[in-house]
Parts: sequence; C-alpha cells; structure tokens
Amino acid sequence: MVNALGGFTVDDSAVADFRSVFGRAPETVWAAPGRVNVIGEHTDYNDGFSLPIALPLRTIAAVGRRDDNVLRVASAQRPGEIVTLPDLVPGKTESWASYAAGIVWALREAGRDAGGLDVFVDSELPEGAGLSSSAALECAVGGAVAELVGWNIEPDLARAELVRLAQRAENEDVRAPTGIMDQTASLRCTDGHALLLDARTAAVTQVPFDLRADGLALLVVDSKTPHEHVHSEYAARRRTCEEAAATLGVPSLRDVSEEDLDTPAVRALDELSYRRVRHVVTENARVLRTVDLLEDGRVREIGPMLTASHASLRDDYEVSVPRIDATVDAALDAGAYGARITGGGFGGCVIALADADTIEQLQAAIQRTYAARDYGQPGFFTVAPSAGAHRL
Ligand code: ADP
Ligand code: MG
Repeated sequence: MVNALGGFTVDDSAVADFRSVFGRAPETVWAAPGRVNVIGEHTDYNDGFSLPIALPLRTIAAVGRRDDNVLRVASAQRPGEIVTLPDLVPGKTESWASYAAGIVWALREAGRDAGGLDVFVDSELPEGAGLSSSAALECAVGGAVAELVGWNIEPDLARAELVRLAQRAENEDVRAPTGIMDQTASLRCTDGHALLLDARTAAVTQVPFDLRADGLALLVVDSKTPHEHVHSEYAARRRTCEEAAATLGVPSLRDVSEEDLDTPAVRALDELSYRRVRHVVTENARVLRTVDLLEDGRVREIGPMLTASHASLRDDYEVSVPRIDATVDAALDAGAYGARITGGGFGGCVIALADADTIEQLQAAIQRTYAARDYGQPGFFTVAPSAGAHRL
C-alpha cells in the first residue's frame, strides 16, 4: 500500500490483505483518523484545553474473531510479520503490535472480552511524525472489537469511554505516558469541525472550522526530524508541571490564570518552572480565544494565536528544534497567517494556515529552506477537518 499522498486509499486492500494473511474474510473493517492539534499543546495532562482536528489520513483495521484465545496481528507496514500473542498481559510485547494488543487487553479488562482475534492494519499516516498513528491504530482496532463484542460506540458517551480504554492501552501496554487528546480526536472529531477538548472533564465541543468555505487551507509539514529522547523529555515536562501545581497548592495548572502569573506565589517558582507554567497558562487562554474567533467566523485571525503558541513552545516550554523553527519562519515569510509546531515536540510536524491558493508557494519556500540547510525532503499534506472513527 502507498501513502495517501500517492493518491490511493487503503479501504479495499485491507480486506484483501486480511484474506491473504489469515485465509478468510474479516468480520468487520473500521477506519480511525490521525489528528493534528490546531492549538493547545502540552495542556491535556495539565487538565487544560486543546483543539485538534481529525485528518483525512486514516488507519484501517480489518478484524475477525477466532475460537481460541490467541491474538494475531499483522500490518501492511510490516510485510511478512505476524505477531502471535497467546495471552494479553500489559507490557508483554515490545513491538508495534502492543498498540493493537493493548486496546484488546483494555477492552477485556473492562468486561468486553472478544476472545481470540485476527487483526490486519493498514495506514495512510506516517509513523512517529506526531500525527498520532498510534492512536489511530488503537482506535481502529478498538472500534472494530467494540462492534464484535456488541458494544455500540455510536453514542458520544460510549466513545468517551473507549477513549479512556485506548489511553490505558497506550499508558500501560506501550508505556507512553500520554494524555487523552490523541484518542479523543480520533474517536470524537466530526467533519468540518475542530474539537475543543476540556481534558479535566473530557467534555468536547464541536467548533465550526470550515476551511474550504473561507478559501483557506491547513498545510501540515512533516519535518522528518530524527527525534530522540522524546519520551523522557515529555515525562520531564509533565513532572515539572505536576510539581509546580503541588507547590502552588492547586490540583493542576488548569487552575492557574493569566492574572495569577504576576502574583508573588507564582513569581516565587524557580525560573525554569515559571516558564513551563507560563506556557501552559497562556496556551490554555490562546485555545479559548481561538475558539471564540472561530465561532465568530474570523478564521484568518486565529493565525497570530498559532504563531504565539509556537513562540511559547519554543521559548518557554523548549520543545522545538532548529529545523522546526526554520519551517515555521519559512511558512510565515511566504505569507501564512500563522504557523506552529504541533504534537509533543522535538521534531514532528508544523502546521501553517494560509489562503488555499498560496499553499504551493509555501511549499516551495519551505523546500528551499530545507535544501539550503541539508534538511532533506519534508512531507506535505494539505488537510481539512475530517470525521472520527467509523465502520467502513
Ligand atoms: P505517532 O503516534 O506520532 O505516529 P508514536 O511513536 O506514538 O508516533 O507511534 C508510532 C508507533 O505506532 C510506530 O512506531 C509503531 O510501533 C506503531 N504503529 C503506528 N501505525 C502502525 C501501523 N500501520 N503498523 C504497525 N505499527 C504501527
Ligand atoms: Mg502517538
């Protein structure tokens, strides 16, 4: 299979591939999208706000039950490899298959035991680029298995419950200490909307974000930065935030306001903690301002919010890298309304909001920057807010 950039989809081939690997037809096929976060970065684990959209790029899971307790997982992105798991205990597999095994395990722990399963996955998403191929994989498998155990996840409340199980899978089986944004986006986003997520309550609000109607486009640039130490840096940021909240005597940094930043208690934090806190607090405020602008139909005006978010992530939260900063600068110089790093950081992707008819110009400018600095070839995706996980 080829990436969506190559112009073809994975729906049909997943069924044929399931058949050729497992020698029978799948019982169901689900698709779950990757996501980009428009704004609200490193806020979810601080009980704060984020605003992701689901991407048109998806992961497909074709699934069939077995009459034993064995789980077999294959992926079009891992040709020739079938991971066979006789039992499902968290942390048992080191491999990519743990994302699939993890959600099957979490469902079983929640009383939704599907027994043995054959699973085939295929994806249009680049892996490890910050577009959440991991959540797409968990949610595609999770949607399919939910259906097979007779759990209707059409109601949004059921989807919210599946989000928790997918997060548990990623936290306990894969051992990545991530928040709920990725899985929430993959399961609860809707076409033509950004999703305001309040991580404290897991409540979501659909916010109109119809780029096409406004002649706009969102360019996603995969910087292809080789990223290292991402998990340990993420854990360190998280710890600093938790310690700062404890020092300030609040449940989480969600409870610190912009006005609080100038109070003696917050000023008394050490310099590094202060900057981390300032990022989280101002980022939450930027998310809410962005939502207000979108609800007023002032879509172009969210650009400066995106760019301010980038500056805060670069200077206060220190999760950017030179290649990402150069990508943002090139996009802004070429006329984007706003641009920022998106995802956990230390590489990954940049988003840029621009008039649809200037996207080619933006791409050319970014390509020139990459060529001049020997950064290699970036990946480009022009995306629109798409639907969450669904049966095919
Ligand atoms: P991201 O979620 O940003 O893409 P992660 O590191 O969280 O990055 O997840 C990427 C990992 O998810 C891959 O290294 C692989 O283990 C697993 N994965 C995602 N999609 C697939 C797929 N289609 N086939 C096999 N493994 C996959
Ligand atoms: Mg991920």
